[in-house]
Formats: sequence, C-alpha cells, structure tokens
Amino acid sequence: MDHLTIGDASVVRIEEMVDSTFLAANFFMPFDPEALQPHLHWLAPRYYIPDRGALVFSMHAWIVKTGRHTVLIDTCVGNDKERMPRTHWHHLQTPFLERLRAAGATPESIDYVMCTHLHADHIGWNTVLRDGRWVPTFPNARYLFARIEYDHWQKNPDPSPIRRAAFLDSALPVVEAGRADMIEDGHQVDAALTVELAPGHTPGNVCIRLRSGSQEAIFAGDTVHHPMQAYEVDWSTVACTDRVAAAASRRKLLEQCAERGSLLLPAHFPAPYGAYVRASRKGFELRWLS
Ligand SMILES: [Zn+2]
Repeated sequence: MDHLTIGDASVVRIEEMVDSTFLAANFFMPFDPEALQPHLHWLAPRYYIPDRGALVFSMHAWIVKTGRHTVLIDTCVGNDKERMPRTHWHHLQTPFLERLRAAGATPESIDYVMCTHLHADHIGWNTVLRDGRWVPTFPNARYLFARIEYDHWQKNPDPSPIRRAAFLDSALPVVEAGRADMIEDGHQVDAALTVELAPGHTPGNVCIRLRSGSQEAIFAGDTVHHPMQAYEVDWSTVACTDRVAAAASRRKLLEQCAERGSLLLPAHFPAPYGAYVRASRKGFELRWLS
C-alpha cells in the first residue's frame, strides 16, 4: 500500500531499496531463535528468510501532504555516499528523486524534511553531491532535527565509520547551509504533525504523529525496526544506543497505537508497510494494513 489517506492528509511511500543483509542473530539483542517458530507461517519469506536467518527490511521515505505543507520523513541512504564496508550502501545509485517526482512531489515542493534520528539510512537524501560538495537536496525546505539528537552526535562522534561519515555528509552540511531548525519534544509542524521524543534507539530518537480528522498514523522510524518486536517487545537491536530505553520507548509506542487505534508506519517494514496494533496476553499483535 504505497498511497494512504489519513483524514484529510495523504501519505505516499517512496522506496529506495530492499535490504536483506542483516541476520536476526546478529541484529536483535537479546534474541531467541525459538521465539520465531510460532510466527514463521507469516514471517517467512516476507519478513524473514529462514535459510539465511536474514531479516527483510524495506528502505523507504514517506511524503506527507497535510493540506498546508509537504513533508518528507526519513531520507534513506542516498546516492554517492561513502559507506564502506557496507558495499550495498556504498556509492549507491537509485532513482529515488525520480520516484519522488512520479509520486507528485518535486524536490522544490518539499517544505520540511524530518528525520526520526540521524543514522545513515534516515538522512542520506538530505544532501546530494554537487561539484564535489554535499549540498541540501531540497532547495525550499527547512530541515527539522531534534536538538538532543544533533547535539549528541556532534559532541560524541559515533565509533561506526558509516554513521560518522553520514553525520558529516548528510547532517552537518545542512546546518552549515543555514537550513536546519533544531526542534524540541512536542514540536508541531502544523496542526497535523507532532514530534514525540522516543529515546533509546538513539538519544534524540523521535516518532512523528500525524493526526487529521479522526484518524492517526505514527511515523515510528526505528522505534520498531521489525514486526517481531511487537511480539518480543524487549528485543532491541545492535544499532540501539540504549537497548533498555529503546525497549521502553517501543512498549510505550505500541501501547499508544493499541489504545488510540493509530496506524503504525515504521521506517523498515516490508509490504504492506504499516499495521494496526492490538494488545495481547504476552505483548502485542499486528493487524496488517490491507
Ligand atoms: Zn533505520
């Protein structure tokens, strides 16, 4: 489902690629392969490839048209970036901007770029390479970064070379070009979009709540990476800064989705990309978008 309607707002998913290189045993922390067994009938092969023990992740961005603004949420890996040793992200070439245009959003039409956090697969298209320099991709956009997130990575460069490079080529040039606004918990883009701090995956990780009419959706970024984390809420990941806090934020998010009937739209769920959440005896269950 690439096109959604939430009240008066429209939501379009822009795919960059599908990534099935991450292995469940190396990714989830903690992890128990036995816990996958009761779910294999729906997990495989759409969300999990049992032969390789691999997780299937979609890499996509969301365009939200609220009626007042056009907003791009989470900007994937990006083209031309130096991302070794992750060869399939390195010097990537995808027609992402052509897909954006085909979906009815030119780069010039984007009013705001929002990143749920500053990892390499959420900020890549913030910038493009022009005459050997990284420049903001969206000429008329303000880029909204959570202040806590930006300050953290500025003061504590990530030990991962990929993440450090991403900060330097996809976040810093936006700030240096005077195009970034540092935002706080509760920031409202317009009446329809509210930023909610959900720390743990990263220190300034946020979810973005879309509310229009009587309907709600939540752009959850990596607060929930994979559908199994609705069933095993305590499974954080190797990519999380604080795994205990990440699990607490995930539980709170899932509880809110269940209570409010909000559509959960994470950054990496494969098709159908979103789900409704129901509380269950053990944790939560997902009801897939149809
Ligand atoms: Zn991610």
